Amino acid sequence: MVYRSLRTYESVQLADGFYGYIWKGNGNNCNTFLFVDVLRGERPHVIIDPGYITNELGENCFDDLAKAVGDDGFKVDDIGLIINTHSHLDHCQANELIVRKSGAWVTLSQEEDEFRRTSGERLNSMLGAKSPEFTPLFYLKEGELNLGAKNKVRLEVFITPGHSPGSICLYWPDTRILVTGDVVFYGSIGRTDFPGGGLSQLKKSIDKLSQLDVECLVPGHRTEYGNIINGKTNVQRNFQAVKLFL
Ligand SMILES: [Zn+2]
Repeated sequence: MVYRSLRTYESVQLADGFYGYIWKGNGNNCNTFLFVDVLRGERPHVIIDPGYITNELGENCFDDLAKAVGDDGFKVDDIGLIINTHSHLDHCQANELIVRKSGAWVTLSQEEDEFRRTSGERLNSMLGAKSPEFTPLFYLKEGELNLGAKNKVRLEVFITPGHSPGSICLYWPDTRILVTGDVVFYGSIGRTDFPGGGLSQLKKSIDKLSQLDVECLVPGHRTEYGNIINGKTNVQRNFQAVKLFL
């Protein structure tokens, strides 16, 4: 794995054509992932969870992300599709910016989109934050999600509620990478006290994920223990450990 360190993001190539941008800033923001040169046409990149534009400490998250992506030789203007694991602001605030720049499509699960337009919207306004405006082009459903010509990247979508009602995780069988959003972290699980969250749902979701053959687990946030979990044994051990919280 090749790590490149920037002030607030650490870039890591996780597989051929798949990059992680690991948030290292002081305030809150999510990790972002990028499939490069996947889609046909002028905007071939697919981004997972672009994160905040600016976080609660005033860090310019999206500007730094654009720089980090640029340092790897790619442009955020060439993003054609945004996948959101869920609709919390720290994962999707920058959707609106990317859509404005490049006309990218957005997708998330239908359950999450309904939550976003109701309780999620109320949660944001309670927090004094504006919800980003975007219209999903299609909804993610449990099952296969094939990206690009000749199904270049074949993913499996899992609907994994508990942290948010329509959270999704993405499994990439060819590389055995699992993108978990805020469902499971290194040594920890996602909060279940947000509207639409629930511990029993999270338990079911994590049980389902722990059945998969995973070599590399990439979560939506770092914890005090770390970020990316490498190696099947370590991933299994992490599932066993986090089940103690459930
Ligand atoms: Zn979240």
